[in-house]
Amino acid sequence: MSDVLVVSEHRRGELRDVSYEAITAGRELADARGGDLRVAAIGGDVDGFAEDLNREGVDAVHAVANGEEFDHNVYQSAVGALLERTDAGTVVIPNSVNGLDYAPAVAEEHDLPLVTDAIGFEYDDGLTVTREMYGSKVETTVDVDGDRFVLTVRGGEWAPAEGVGDATVESVEVDHPESGARVTGFEEVAGGDVDISEADVLVSVGRGIEEEENLELVEELADALGATLSASRPIVDNGWLPKNRQVGQSGKVVTPDVYIAIGISGAVQHVAGMKGSDTIVAINTDPNAPIFDIADYGVVGDLFDVVPELIDEFA
Ligand code: FAD
Repeated sequence: MSDVLVVSEHRRGELRDVSYEAITAGRELADARGGDLRVAAIGGDVDGFAEDLNREGVDAVHAVANGEEFDHNVYQSAVGALLERTDAGTVVIPNSVNGLDYAPAVAEEHDLPLVTDAIGFEYDDGLTVTREMYGSKVETTVDVDGDRFVLTVRGGEWAPAEGVGDATVESVEVDHPESGARVTGFEEVAGGDVDISEADVLVSVGRGIEEEENLELVEELADALGATLSASRPIVDNGWLPKNRQVGQSGKVVTPDVYIAIGISGAVQHVAGMKGSDTIVAINTDPNAPIFDIADYGVVGDLFDVVPELIDEFA
């Protein structure tokens, strides 16, 4: 029962980055427990997914070819079958809308403790999970009784697993109950063409932009850099950009190569969503703005002076 089972996640034909991040978290746990790391690909293009999930450190990939899109019942049954048929005692699931849909059901069905939204953990005889509370204002630890559990891991907290592994790939047949729900199609929300969590470069705008009309300036910079536009919550609350552009605790977790924060103070709820970015650049008039504490490069200056200069440089 020392093996760890990571459940991957895909959407509309593509594996999500958090799948590879969960593999890294799963590998850490498997090493600490002296077990193997197993990864499940459930539904959709399982053969293609299985190939992509065969990253360094993965010992086995289980391909469950049931259904195209996410289905709560299929995921619950598939995880249950893999817990019964393998030596996996612990399940690692992305802390996403999908993950949170079936993780509690798996925990309940198999009488396992569930800890959600882990941002870190230590395993030394038992598991101690680090989570955030009170709107990301404090970090807390949770000790888990027993050595079998279900853990959901927050995106952007672990580096994605890389390299090509030499895992065995096994097709698994799973019987699952008739689903009460099925995906009949997708409807884009306004501006839903963009997934900021998958962007390599983000130009992110905050309240310092002052007026909706001024967004043109940061859009121009994003165009010049080939970047995607994202925002802090006040911009979304004002209705200036759609919700799917919001970075942060109540928005999306992003991990781009470059994150340029323009007129964003760096509140904990915002930082929770972007601190995993490789390189952070901040432009802010206030030298004491908390965003500078996590920025790799900072410009203390007025965005209305600095951004036009950057556009001239890169356009
Ligand atoms: P402000 O904090 O007002 O900062 C504006 C910054 O612009 C300031 O630092 C100022 O110095 C600078 N500035 C002003 N003029 C200029 C200029 N001309 N040039 C350069 N700089 C200038 N926030 C999020 O972003 N995402 C979330 O998901 C989120 N979730 C939340 C969840 C909860 C439960 C709560 C309570 C809050 C949440 N918030 C979230 C809100 C968060 O607490 C902050 O209020 C918000 O992040 C502030 O956004 P901001 O940095 O754009 O604005």
